[in-house]
Amino acid sequence: MTRQVNVGGVTIGGGAPIRIQSMNNTRTADVKATLDQIYKLKDCGCDITRVAVPDMEAAAAIREITSNSPIPVVADIHFDYRLAIEAARNGAAKIRINPGNIGGPDRVRQVVDVCREMNIPIRVGVNSGSCERELVDKYGGVCAAALCESARGAVRLLEDHGFEDIVISIKSSSPRLTIDTYRTLSSECDYPLHVGVTEAGTMREGVVRSAVGIGTLLAEGIGDTIRVSLTDDPCEEVYAAISILKALNLKTGGIEFVSCPTCGRTRVPLIELANKVEDRISRLPYNIKVAVMGCAVNGPGEAREADIGLAGGVGEFLLFRKGQTCGKIVATDIDRAVDEFVKEVIRVGEEANKAD
Ligand code: SF4
Repeated sequence: MTRQVNVGGVTIGGGAPIRIQSMNNTRTADVKATLDQIYKLKDCGCDITRVAVPDMEAAAAIREITSNSPIPVVADIHFDYRLAIEAARNGAAKIRINPGNIGGPDRVRQVVDVCREMNIPIRVGVNSGSCERELVDKYGGVCAAALCESARGAVRLLEDHGFEDIVISIKSSSPRLTIDTYRTLSSECDYPLHVGVTEAGTMREGVVRSAVGIGTLLAEGIGDTIRVSLTDDPCEEVYAAISILKALNLKTGGIEFVSCPTCGRTRVPLIELANKVEDRISRLPYNIKVAVMGCAVNGPGEAREADIGLAGGVGEFLLFRKGQTCGKIVATDIDRAVDEFVKEVIRVGEEANKAD
């Protein structure tokens, strides 16, 4: 088991639940916009967020942001140790930095001293794109061994000052390399690991790459906190992270939505209906299973465990509960059908919540 660190009251590692992280894409110096987005992220299910600190204006804004944020805020710093010091002093719950590229041991010591004084951890963030030249040459390219050696060196810079309140990440855009690297890293150390596939891409490709990279590792028990990295709204990163955790039973609760792929038996606009229903119900606070199936022959049977579902007929949907039909919804007006079904889902969800 990994050690545990405390990020502004949220524990990472040491058997704590896998924490979901995201990163603001607002200008950090714009405190209002940043806080608005943090509140949205929290509502989506984000445990910890990170903000970019590219200059002193951003580092100064950290004070007001952290004072008003409902979740811990991590300061993301590249190269400039003074920004790390300022952000830490202003209340950042953790600093993300690569100690290997901030200008030498004395600057590392100054950052360590402030983080120790403020009682906050440091995430050592190594990136495949900035792996040291000598390690690339030594290993004949960027590989798991090179990245792990790079991370070990960066961690040692902190350990040399007696600092061990550390989380490690080694990011790559390749899921394969991510998997290999974290497997090696987790066999070598017990620091908590922040796992993610960086620059994973836009929604479609990025979610798949993240699910493969992060999901494979989590299934092996590797990883203490995750960030899905998408070229999209940060809330989508959180939703994707929740889906990955749910797929592995590492997070429970909420609506479990299943729908069939449709086939030649489908006689209703199921794809449109399923997408609209999912949009409307996926964040509802009910622990129920909802199934939307294309046909009456296999629909109820294929989703027998569903608390509530629809099975397409001809011009209508059969409503069913626990595999038993219990009513009909006309399919000619799809928006109306969605409205009616969502109402039923809410009714069943409310009943389930009362019964709990
Ligand atoms: S539930 Fe019916 S329509 Fe959907 S894939 Fe199965 S057989 Fe086809």
